[in-house]
Amino acid sequence: WKNAPPTLRDLVSASRAHGDRLFVVFEDERVTYDAHHRAVAALAADLVARGVGKGDRVALAMRNLPEWPVAFFAAVSIGAIVVPLNAWWTGAELDYGLRDSGATALIADAERHDRLAPFYAGLPDLAHVLVARAAADVTGATRLESVIGTPGDWPSLPDAALPAAALAPEDDATIFYTSGTTGAPKGALGTHRNLTSNILSSGFTAARAYLRRGEAPPDPTPRVALTVIPLFHVTACSAGMMGSVATGSTLVFMRKWDATRALEIIARERVNLTGGVPTIAWQLLEHPDRDRYDLSSLDSIAYGGAPSAPELVRRIYEEFGALPGNGWGMTETTATVTQHGGEDYLNRPDSAGAAVAAADIEVRGEDGVTVLPPDTIGELWARGPMIAKGYWNKPEATAATFVDGWVRTGDLARIDAEGFLFIADRAKDIVIRGGENIYSIEVENVLYAHPAVTDAALVGIPHRTLGEEPAAVVHLCPGCTADEAELQAFVRARLAGFKVPVAIRFMATPLPRNANGKILKKELKALFADAG
Ligand code: ATP
Ligand code: MG
Repeated sequence: WKNAPPTLRDLVSASRAHGDRLFVVFEDERVTYDAHHRAVAALAADLVARGVGKGDRVALAMRNLPEWPVAFFAAVSIGAIVVPLNAWWTGAELDYGLRDSGATALIADAERHDRLAPFYAGLPDLAHVLVARAAADVTGATRLESVIGTPGDWPSLPDAALPAAALAPEDDATIFYTSGTTGAPKGALGTHRNLTSNILSSGFTAARAYLRRGEAPPDPTPRVALTVIPLFHVTACSAGMMGSVATGSTLVFMRKWDATRALEIIARERVNLTGGVPTIAWQLLEHPDRDRYDLSSLDSIAYGGAPSAPELVRRIYEEFGALPGNGWGMTETTATVTQHGGEDYLNRPDSAGAAVAAADIEVRGEDGVTVLPPDTIGELWARGPMIAKGYWNKPEATAATFVDGWVRTGDLARIDAEGFLFIADRAKDIVIRGGENIYSIEVENVLYAHPAVTDAALVGIPHRTLGEEPAAVVHLCPGCTADEAELQAFVRARLAGFKVPVAIRFMATPLPRNANGKILKKELKALFADAG
């Protein structure tokens, strides 16, 4: 991509030109770009009539439904700031998001609305509640259907232009919450330019492969993507949806993640790409009936957001005939800062890729200033048009994290001489055993290389004199066996002795993860309460 539209309003207005192409497929509902734009214009007009305007926070609390992008584009097009709330959150957590952002309007699905019911009385600023897919009349709220109808009605809504609004690329557009892996979720404030700039990065690894051969990359073509990660996660919205709208691609939503359903949908809708988080790829690969489905349309499986097993890369390529992809990013970067794919990824399966064209990455020492030489582990810093403005209402955290246009990531990493990034650990997860650093991902990758292991996490457990010792939790593939001593010997044969987990616990189920695919290490540590 050579150009990105200046604002999200420009992006959605231009998408009208995709006309009858399908934008969203959800079960038997099919929404064209034309129908989507009509619904966006109708909802935007309703919000304006309610007095919602520039800078007002409009919270969104729903699963991946066709109404999600409608609500998103309607609100950002009139200059409001969209606050996508995590649909997995409890009522109290949703209440936190509404309070923290100071939302005056909420667009929710019926389930989230019910969850929030006990909290509305304590939210005096919340003046407008619109509820999608409510079975009956909702007290104190408006049914979204009474404003825009159901997706089946959208093609017959008036073909209206968006209400007038003066918007600049640097205007605030979104508050996405971090996953809350290391503390309370923080709202990252993103601008229109932050989000639209991600369009420049879509297809980056493919384009780079062409350029390296001395050929001009072809223009991007519309694709069909099975979007299984939630849109409230910045990657799905910003990297996935923005690129799709720009190219006239199709997003296929699922009511709920289910590997069998996903395989059916890939075959039925002729899906070209899917992924999101590494676990999704694992579950598709390990599905016992996988070969019963025609998956020939699938040409890429890309994921990011969490460490992944190097083993996954070769298996996706060999068993699906699809190109594996990876990307590193964080909520504070609104999407991916590095991307990895194709041959580069097969050759460096433990890397998270190289910086996209618009971004710079550096590894710095503890002073936060000195840039470290290649292949030295330090803290990762990133800069580019996708980096958020700061945290919403958190001036101190903003000052500590957003420095001179750079974001300090809290991730420990190295960059090789060719610019490829290798994440070693989160600074907060590193295990320090008697002064020796043990980076989780190095040990996890060795465990993943054992044929029986499909899920692995390294955690630090307290030790009286050493401070901490490494311990691991694993999940084995169905029907596979391995015991603690065997896995310890496997690690000992490949890594220095001090990195060998002193205890290994086996979980019958995949390891607990949050909505964004991150292993909940805090919970896993509790398994070792009796050790150390
Ligand atoms: P919080 O900041 O609230 O503790 P979080 O950091 O998990 O939560 P996100 O912004 O969703 O919230 O996640 C960003 C983090 O995810 C990165 O800092 C990094 O640790 C991890 N991550 C992202 N992409 C990758 C990747 N490709 N490989 C390894 N780790 C990744
Ligand atoms: Mg974080």
